[in-house]
Amino acid sequence: MTENNKNEEESEIKDEIKEEEEQPKEETEAKAESEEPKAKFTFKCTRSDKCCLTRGPIPITFWDLELWARNGVVANFMPYLDIYNKPDGGIDLVLKPLAPPQKEGEEEKPRDPFGTVPIEELLEVKCPLYNKEKSECLVYDNRPLSCRTYPLEFDGKNFTVVDVECPGIGEEGMSKEDLKDMRDTAKQMFYELTRMRIALPVLTQLVSQKVMMDLMRQNMEAMSKMSDEDRSKLDEILRKGQEPQAE
Ligand code: SF4
Repeated sequence: MTENNKNEEESEIKDEIKEEEEQPKEETEAKAESEEPKAKFTFKCTRSDKCCLTRGPIPITFWDLELWARNGVVANFMPYLDIYNKPDGGIDLVLKPLAPPQKEGEEEKPRDPFGTVPIEELLEVKCPLYNKEKSECLVYDNRPLSCRTYPLEFDGKNFTVVDVECPGIGEEGMSKEDLKDMRDTAKQMFYELTRMRIALPVLTQLVSQKVMMDLMRQNMEAMSKMSDEDRSKLDEILRKGQEPQAE
């Protein structure tokens, strides 16, 4: 599909969803009496799992954290959570793949448990919670809100289909209620993501401040317990470290 075709199709779908949304109540009721309700935008997840294999960072919201806490599964998600510094300067909490992609023909290298692969390099990798062998989401009942609304997004004003090639688009069997549920979920995702984006910078700052303070406190405690001999050795090391290096 060319970029132009894709854009046209995207805008057609957008108009259809908007049309459903903006229909005056009387008109909708009159129509409902005269004919069977028929949603123009139709979608049904085919469980092709294409999105799980190709989506970029999956944003996590307070809704997800609350769900996981209630279901006692937070620990299962912890290794995959990371802060993503977005190109626009904002930050998101996201699901991040653990390992860098294995290049074809490349020998498997031993993993450095503390190695930091820049998250940008990992964004094209499949979701860490997708099991390719079994072709299934490992956390389906606890999957993030973002996965529940995909491929529909709401930006506070308009709905957008973010992946017009998603195999579920055009599938029959979507009732008006299903469409309403999907729109409501997309709206909820927008609301939850906005809340998260407002709170996250404050929370990360608070946590870093707390970690710094704890480290300083631990250092000061360790220093106060040092013998005079050890302290003078440490002073010597620090003094040498500050001396200008010979060229
Ligand atoms: S969490 Fe599950 S549904 Fe969401 S992208 Fe990952 S594998 Fe797919």
